[in-house]
Amino acid sequence: MRIILIGPPGAGKGTQCQRLVNFLQVPHLSTGEMLRDAIKKKTAEGKEASSFMENGQLVPDQLVLGLVTRRLKDQDCRKGCLLDGFPRTINQAEMLDDLLERQAMSVDGVIELSVPQEELVRRMLARKREDDSPEVFAQRIESFKRQTAPLLEYYELKGKLEHVDGLGSADDIFDRVRQAIRAFRRAKR
Ligand code: AMP
Repeated sequence: MRIILIGPPGAGKGTQCQRLVNFLQVPHLSTGEMLRDAIKKKTAEGKEASSFMENGQLVPDQLVLGLVTRRLKDQDCRKGCLLDGFPRTINQAEMLDDLLERQAMSVDGVIELSVPQEELVRRMLARKREDDSPEVFAQRIESFKRQTAPLLEYYELKGKLEHVDGLGSADDIFDRVRQAIRAFRRAKR
């Protein structure tokens, strides 16, 4: 299956992605991780991405698309994948649809992990990741609302969106995630 997980920063995507890749037995494609890796390795892409990331802004679509295109060609992605943090704009979603279509593939389902903003801020203050100053975190939430939230409607209109309440224990949330996967499987038959 080819699944996309969408949620604002601090929604708990990381935890649910780990569980989901085990459950589905597919590779985990996180563009945030690919970008952090490119920065660590000091590649040209990493150098281009770093200033955007430091400010909590999205890096240019073409750069991320290049990373994803290369990764999707790997053999282990034939049977499916979990896309985490990509697509993040309507433009990226359209480019992904084109890319998959050319390989006779498609997105099976999109999960929205939703958490109210007050809770996101509370979690951020409790967690304090070093790349998450309150200013950068606020910028990342802002870019989610402005650039990524419109994607939900894009997939809703295609009948591919399932909402998952992101409040509660990781186990409870994962039960809901599995229900969403069951709905995608039913739709596929
Ligand atoms: P994440 O780990 O998914 O929260 O991503 C960390 C940062 O990487 C984001 O704040 C963006 O600056 C950048 N990034 C990750 N994925 C994308 C994407 N699909 N498009 C643009 N920028 C991205």
